[in-house]
Amino acid sequence: MARKVRSTKKAKKKATKKVAKKATKKTAKKSTKKVSKKTAKKAVKKTAKKTTKKATKKVAKKAAKQATKKTTKKATKKVAKKVAKKASKKLTVSPKQSQKELFDSLLELIRVTSTVLPDDIQKVILEALEKEQKDTSAEYALKIIEANIKLAKMKSQPMCQDTGTILFFVNHPPGFRQNDFVKVCNKAVLKATEVGYLRQNSVDSLTGKNDCMNVGLGHPNYHFHEHNKSHVEVRLMLKGGGCENVGIQYSLPDKTIGAGRDLDGVRRAILDGVHKAQGMGCGPGVLGVCIGGDRSAGYVESKEQLLRKLDDSNSHPDLDHLEKDIVETSNKLGIGPMGFGGNTTLLGCKIGVLNRLPASFFVSISYMCWAYRRQGVKLKSNNQVSQWLY
Ligand code: SF4
Repeated sequence: MARKVRSTKKAKKKATKKVAKKATKKTAKKSTKKVSKKTAKKAVKKTAKKTTKKATKKVAKKAAKQATKKTTKKATKKVAKKVAKKASKKLTVSPKQSQKELFDSLLELIRVTSTVLPDDIQKVILEALEKEQKDTSAEYALKIIEANIKLAKMKSQPMCQDTGTILFFVNHPPGFRQNDFVKVCNKAVLKATEVGYLRQNSVDSLTGKNDCMNVGLGHPNYHFHEHNKSHVEVRLMLKGGGCENVGIQYSLPDKTIGAGRDLDGVRRAILDGVHKAQGMGCGPGVLGVCIGGDRSAGYVESKEQLLRKLDDSNSHPDLDHLEKDIVETSNKLGIGPMGFGGNTTLLGCKIGVLNRLPASFFVSISYMCWAYRRQGVKLKSNNQVSQWLY
């Protein structure tokens, strides 16, 4: 009986163990399942998050790309519209209209050049008047010049009966049509002569006939220079005959004046030119000088030196010194305005230099009278005046 009870107890224990084992297994399985489920859930969540992030990034990128594309397209459209507007604006100025604008601008340039002395020259003349002694012929001559300048401006009439040689200096961009410019410019000169801004002053050299209203062979005289700017600049000089007659060219060495081929020789030549011009050329004058070049280039450069402003400085220190020295020395010669004696013989001196041949050394001098008529304009693309140069 006791054995039976023991075996029953054993069987019971075994059964309990089995049940416990089963239960543990079940629980373990359950918890593993739970953990796996949790892990899986977590993983899915993570993946989903990752995917969403990726997708969002992609969408954002796409949106940004689209936005940029849209903005660029809009900006391009805007720029294209602007360019087209500008082009159409340009196109609204027909060649005919543009020629009319050029004609008007050139006619005004001629009128102003002939009737208004530029500020830089007026200033020097007034300073000279202050320096002359009272009640002298020199002061009287300068006072008449001053009155003449005022009257010409007020009445818009030529400041001198001598129109002079009409010299145009044109700086233009590449592709500029010089022949078209000359045609329009000649028409403006004819008109200016007709209305009295210029006297009928150009004659046939062989017959002496005057029938071309200032337009003929070599007159007006044109000098074109191409520059790297997009605008056109036109300068005009009316160079009086009396002062042109006293221009002079030296070929150094020149024993008669003791001038060698150096700056001292140049100085001697220039001062000799001033001395020879006394009483002629309607002084006080301004000298344009060229050292070197051939005979023709030297004279052209000497005239181009007269396009410089009277108050500028020469960029070459030796020439700058020589310019000042010539004016100072000339004004001590006692020649004076119109050769009447006095302190003002020269108002200025401008010196340029060109290469020369070893065999030649020219000093070319252009003398400009007190009626220093030169003016210039900068033109807009439609040929209207954008700026006065003096
Ligand atoms: S030289 Fe000059 S100031 Fe004298 S008449 Fe000629 S333009 Fe006139």
